Amino acid sequence: MQAVTESLIAPAVGEFISRRKQMLIDGEWVDAASGETFSTVDPATEESLAEVPAGDAEDVDRAVRAARRAFESGPWPRMTASERGRAIWKLADLIEENLEEFAQLETLDNGKPLTVARAADIPLVVDHFRYYAGWATKVEGETIPVSVPGMFTYTTREPVGVVGQIIPWNFPLLMAAWKLGVALACGNTVVLKPAEQTPLSALRLGELIDAAGFPPGVVNIVTGYGETAGAALTKHPDVDKVAFTGSTEVGKLIMATAADSLKRVSLELGGKSPNIVFADADLDLAAEGAAAAIYFNHGQCCCAGSRLFIEDKVFDKVLPKIVDYSEQIQLGPGLDPETTMGPLVSSEQFERVNGFLDAGKAEGANIATGGGRPDSLTKGYFVAPTVFTGVKPEMKVVREEIFGPVVCAVPFKDPEEVVAAGNDTAYGLAAAVWTKDIQKAHRAARMLKAGTVWINCYNQFDAAAPFGGYKQSGFGREMGKAALELYTQLKTTWVNLGEAG
Ligand code: NAP
Ligand code: MG
Repeated sequence: MQAVTESLIAPAVGEFISRRKQMLIDGEWVDAASGETFSTVDPATEESLAEVPAGDAEDVDRAVRAARRAFESGPWPRMTASERGRAIWKLADLIEENLEEFAQLETLDNGKPLTVARAADIPLVVDHFRYYAGWATKVEGETIPVSVPGMFTYTTREPVGVVGQIIPWNFPLLMAAWKLGVALACGNTVVLKPAEQTPLSALRLGELIDAAGFPPGVVNIVTGYGETAGAALTKHPDVDKVAFTGSTEVGKLIMATAADSLKRVSLELGGKSPNIVFADADLDLAAEGAAAAIYFNHGQCCCAGSRLFIEDKVFDKVLPKIVDYSEQIQLGPGLDPETTMGPLVSSEQFERVNGFLDAGKAEGANIATGGGRPDSLTKGYFVAPTVFTGVKPEMKVVREEIFGPVVCAVPFKDPEEVVAAGNDTAYGLAAAVWTKDIQKAHRAARMLKAGTVWINCYNQFDAAAPFGGYKQSGFGREMGKAALELYTQLKTTWVNLGEAG
């Protein structure tokens, strides 16, 4: 298997991986000041792919200074909105030209099937940059009809300044795009810290950022650990805003740390999303959708449909369909064209998800299918798609985000009961409802406390559609026009026209 999959790696990818990895600071490729590096691992083989610089406070400080210089002086603030838009569009073109290379890098570093990286991750990245390239020329203010005689009053939307962006490993390049596209369209400068598990696609992106014509210091990429590089970025007094996607636990830490210098904060955190199947739904569509809702990206999605509520009348009809989908999934290395689910991203996640499986069993839940790494796979962080039944609301597997291919299937009786159960969580990122009854669907959508509700679908995303959380799933909306709020600040200007009398 290893030899087969290795032969599928494009020469450009092999060449990039074997090249020495450096960080992008002020338009230069540099080592960490300490000279330290760390390994990024291929989760399908558990072997090191590459060494990358272990950036720390000193490197973050250099990057922030570069971003500040680029923001205050130099070519970036003098570029027109149209020129900024064209640079973002050019970046999208360059990523598209290298789509296969990026897809392979994601597969090797993260573990996801190449078919998925090719068809979903990278095309969404390209589309996302193009969408925000268009916004660069549309960041508008307003004129305000004030009632003070002789005054002309208008607002302008100005960039926030130097932005620290800390991203996770589940969609490495796509999370970078969600953060960078809008920040650049609005004229900010950025220090980006990729996740330690998946730094490679961000470093390759850095090369294209150079080639797309962004002036030095506009985008800086510092690889390193969260506790060191990430924490330094959050603490740095000259960072105006921190944008974070990751765990709720670290989100809370970031908010507390950012309070010191009153940085703006936007947080896209975890979830435990309810997926509700009513008896009057198209049950085949709902079952397939429910399986995709939890298993897409191996369950490593903040919006994964991890609590599956099925109306009791059809529970015994729907459950076997989900079990069947689960058992049809082909686990294997992401490069193998037969694979439909790869390994989890890291040994930590493997241990963590297995810990939840043990907790579920210990608390008395039943495993309808799955339950750990299949015996046929002796290497790699694989976990079989798993369905728990017989769960109780207080169980750990029902309350906490597992972030793996594990779903809890729960029967319910009526709409009021299921909406209350769906909302019985600290999270509020997403929810879904499956029914042919339009009133029931919209009523449930209105009552569910979640930033996104899908009706008769799941995991639909578009660069134009805002995404973000209620409750402890965070705040601030990424994507769409809504994200401009996160990366601009409003200035009100009063002009005395001298006509008061
Ligand atoms: P995490 O620790 O929240 O990591 C997300 C990002 O934050 C990474 O870049 C990480 O750096 C950085 N980070 C960690 N500690 C930090 C700190 N003290 N200050 C600043 N930045 C810091 O998530 P994880 O440990 O990878 O995964 C644990 C759990 O988080 C998962 O099981 C899942 O439940 C949740 N999660 C959610 C999402 C989401 O999309 N909402 C994504 C990933 C994980 P490192 O490179 O050092 O990790
Ligand atoms: Mg890796």
